[in-house]
Amino acid sequence: MHEMVPDNPYLLMTPGPLSTSKSVRHAMLRDWCTWDDDYQNIVQNIRTRLVALATHSSEDYTAVLMQGSGSFAVEATLSTVIAADQKVLIVSNGAYGQRMVQMAQVLHLGHLVYQLAETQPPAPAELAQILDANPDITHVALVHCETTTGMLNPLAECAQVVNARDKVLIVDAMSSFGGIPLDVDDLGIDFLISSANKCIQGVPGFGFVIARRAELEKCEGQARSLCLDLYDQWIQMDTSGKWRFTSPTHVVRAFLQALDELAAKGGIASRNARYVKNQALLVEGMNKLGFKTLLKRKHQSPIITSFLYPEPNFDFNAFYDLVKESGFVLYPGKISQADTFRVGNIGEVYPEDIRELLSVIGDIRH
Ligand SMILES: *Cc1c(COP(=O)(O)O)cnc(C)c1O
Repeated sequence: MHEMVPDNPYLLMTPGPLSTSKSVRHAMLRDWCTWDDDYQNIVQNIRTRLVALATHSSEDYTAVLMQGSGSFAVEATLSTVIAADQKVLIVSNGAYGQRMVQMAQVLHLGHLVYQLAETQPPAPAELAQILDANPDITHVALVHCETTTGMLNPLAECAQVVNARDKVLIVDAMSSFGGIPLDVDDLGIDFLISSANKCIQGVPGFGFVIARRAELEKCEGQARSLCLDLYDQWIQMDTSGKWRFTSPTHVVRAFLQALDELAAKGGIASRNARYVKNQALLVEGMNKLGFKTLLKRKHQSPIITSFLYPEPNFDFNAFYDLVKESGFVLYPGKISQADTFRVGNIGEVYPEDIRELLSVIGDIRH
């Protein structure tokens, strides 16, 4: 059960920022000098541990931390790794795929979009066809868990298609890394992006990229941005543990605490088991209360779930307020094809909390 702390009047049933443990928040109660070894050792420790969480052959990969929210890390990656004469295929079936398309437009990257409906996962055979018909494509960018709907895209199947054609693979694993086991090595991922405030359960303030060294080494001088230059950030961080510009020190220290707690509680496999259980309980209970899911079960992630409005005149805002008064905040829907709202089940949220939420919703609906 989550801690009933007076400074948190409600639990966040959202896709991030998430409810964090009291000890993670407590880790922020001191100041750090970015220049001092004490702090730089924390940064290097975090980088080493991220690589260890993501891969089994850590020598081939490195981790780069980047100030800002998760999107800043996505933009830094796209901006830095795609050269002027290269072209990225962006797989889009939601707002986060679409955001990468917008970034490609703003940055004037060569790009092509594999556009799908929000409820439709990419088809590996179709992906193969597009790559074969467009041999000038050098990179493929894909969202793992599309938080827009809660869809878990078929990463392994898509990665196989991309790897077989020797393209560079960029994965936005923002809302899945730390909550769903994956191995960047086995999947042949070259750049995997996530952030502090999702399934590692830290607080917001920076994103990170797990990068294949051999690919990142090729990217010197390519970034279309000074601040979001992933290569320069890496070189500086690798040599000294320093971020190029002011880093979110308290957030970084809290993230180390979150990594310690992840390890102490059995690592990613056990966190995944908790999230899977949360999500299964949630859907089972919501179904009984008359709420149906947007997605088919086989496409559904254990991270966040979209529910259809139970009746056409359903007043989500009024419902939201009542649920909030009872200690939980929900998330509005984000898709155009149907009226939905979303319930996240990641963060410091346990099956007991889900049962409590269901009982609150049951009372409101009856
Ligand atoms: C949270 C998230 C992001 C980043 O969003 P920010 O608001 O910039 O932190 C990107 N992609 C996905 C799939 C996400 O869930």
